[in-house]
Amino acid sequence: MTILRDSAIEEAVAALAAGRLVAFPTETVYGLGADSTSDTAVARVYEAKGRPTFNPLIAHVPDLAAAERLVAFSEPGRQLARAFWPGPLTLVLPRQPDCPVSLLASAGLDTLAVRVPDHPLALRLLGAFGRPLVAPSANLSGQLSPTAAAHVREALGDKVALVLDGGPCRVGVESTVIGLSGARPALLRPGGVPAEAVEAIVGALEAAGDGPLRSPGQLDSHYAPALPVRLEATAARPGEALLAFGPRAPTGAAATLDLSPTGDLAEAAANLFAFLRRLDRSDLDGIAVMPIPERGLGRAINDRLRRAAAPRPGTPGLKGRGT
Ligand code: AMP
Ligand code: MG
Repeated sequence: MTILRDSAIEEAVAALAAGRLVAFPTETVYGLGADSTSDTAVARVYEAKGRPTFNPLIAHVPDLAAAERLVAFSEPGRQLARAFWPGPLTLVLPRQPDCPVSLLASAGLDTLAVRVPDHPLALRLLGAFGRPLVAPSANLSGQLSPTAAAHVREALGDKVALVLDGGPCRVGVESTVIGLSGARPALLRPGGVPAEAVEAIVGALEAAGDGPLRSPGQLDSHYAPALPVRLEATAARPGEALLAFGPRAPTGAAATLDLSPTGDLAEAAANLFAFLRRLDRSDLDGIAVMPIPERGLGRAINDRLRRAAAPRPGTPGLKGRGT
């Protein structure tokens, strides 16, 4: 873990207070942080990411008490917060009448997504700033999520005032998003906390419907490298890189990276975005991905991979990027 000088946190707080963007590490991926109570600052997040404005953002807070000031908790919500915070679980709940978070962050909904990140730097920053931060992944919309400070600098450059460097992200995929404003808890996006662990506390989850809510986690093409991605591959074809999983990775691909030679899904999740990025080379034609088991964190990994492999919007050629 990188130790940061207090002056870096002070600098970050000053930039945030001035409405500027500060990227910071969380246990999931690097977040593009902004003062959630400022409409202008939140708008700059959408602008910097090129993100469709109908996608709502997550408000990051230091603890449950801070979250209770923003949204109205139900009992299942509190149980989940106690069980998994700080951690990669996001709860979507009705906004409090006096919720100070910009309505832009809710993208027109009367709900708000909240989370307590499990990272010492993120918690220090939240404590020092004293207001909730919106912090979607610090990448251009549709592209790979950043799991290292260098990824953020490459993608966003001078759109961010500062990148706090906390080393590589431990979990490596985004948070699990649970909707708690309906009759039953719903899985809106699989992520760092396995859905099974959530169900052990609140019972069976409803699957996210095809309702009006389209979250980035529900856009078909998202999390995409520039190269086309081919799933369920047993071996790479000529010109393809191989993203392998498990001990029996075939040899002979133009480039091979194994997400976890021991078949450990947590290790695979932590490596996912960084490895896709390393294989996304202009001298290759595509990325072939071996099957990943559909259990635990494998569900989140496969969800991201299916979107990386989905047809890209508005690009007739295969090499186009998503939005
Ligand atoms: P990201 O900030 O990139 O980690 O993505 C935020 C995720 O939370 C997306 O899947 C959003 O659609 C989801 N989300 C955020 N706010 C809400 C909300 N009010 N209702 C439903 N989903 C939400
Ligand atoms: Mg994202």
